[in-house]
Amino acid sequence: MSQYWVRWSTIKAVITRWFRPSAVYRSVEDIDMRALYAAGHRTVILDLDNTLMSYNEYTLSLQKLTWIETVKSLGFHVIIVSNNRSQSRVESVCQAAAVPGMRFACKPWLSAFQEFLDHSGIYVDDPIVIGDQLFTDIVFANRLGGYGILVQPLDPDSDSILKIPQREIERAVLKWFGFGSLSA
Ligand SMILES: [Mg+2]
Repeated sequence: MSQYWVRWSTIKAVITRWFRPSAVYRSVEDIDMRALYAAGHRTVILDLDNTLMSYNEYTLSLQKLTWIETVKSLGFHVIIVSNNRSQSRVESVCQAAAVPGMRFACKPWLSAFQEFLDHSGIYVDDPIVIGDQLFTDIVFANRLGGYGILVQPLDPDSDSILKIPQREIERAVLKWFGFGSLSA
């Protein structure tokens, strides 16, 4: 019996290390960025789709642009790291927000991002990673050793139909972590 208990606790520890967000918020505007800056974080890695812009939008809303400006004015370095393959989509957002960024990042894997850092000469230490997906953004954050913040997708209806089961699993995992009330 105790043997199984040890095994379960190991599994639990692994799941927690990989999938647990450091914090969960409804939207990026709810995050206390000032407190995170005071805690020593200096880099913010932002997901694009359904974090800053729904799949149906093609430009950043004034609200999100203003939020990014506020984050920058606090002293943060902002980078947009998107799994979207579209160069025009990611580039136009980076231009509008005047921040560096990359497309086709293959989160949660780190190799493409690492290559991007090597090429751009950007140095990242203890970053905050903000995104709407547990299995890409938060796992990416945890693998980077960063502070992963999960936000609710801007428009879940704009997700592909393939993401419906994924969202259900995300909700169950979040509830298990005790973030139930925010993951509804
Ligand atoms: Mg996303």
